[in-house]
Amino acid sequence: MGLERTLSIIKPDATKKNVIGKILSRFEEAGLKLIAVSMKTLSPEEAGEFYAVHRARPFYGELVDYMTTGPVVISVLEGHDAIATNRKLMGATDPKKADKGTIRADFAESINANAVHGSDSAENAANEIKFFFPELSR
Ligand code: ADP
Ligand code: MG
Repeated sequence: MGLERTLSIIKPDATKKNVIGKILSRFEEAGLKLIAVSMKTLSPEEAGEFYAVHRARPFYGELVDYMTTGPVVISVLEGHDAIATNRKLMGATDPKKADKGTIRADFAESINANAVHGSDSAENAANEIKFFFPELSR
């Protein structure tokens, strides 16, 4: 793949731990460029709509509640193979299963409070970027 964009969210557990800078540095060190950044506390409506793809999953309610418990840092990362590069930096969903040196292995608390979100496909990346940064999606 060539130059891509992906959406990243530093979740409330990580902002609370004061590791925003450390996580953003990992993106930059991997060659990903921050082209948009926003810090805010999500409303239940925003979190619910953002995670609507998971509506049918048993953890949906817990996930939406958790995502509104504190500020998050939402960013658009751009670079070569950005979607896969970011997923690799993040590590597995369950921090207990995440490879050593990944963001989730180093900073996540649990399978729910797992430090970061990252788009998982080109289609979802486009939708997620449009959701938070409509001005980038003309
Ligand atoms: P990922 O974030 O690695 O793409 P998923 O898209 O499968 O993972 O799930 C979205 C988010 O839902 C996860 O990052 C995590 O916060 C939460 N989650 C996933 N599986 C579980 C689970 N079994 N129990 C609680 N929360 C979960
Ligand atoms: Mg996912």
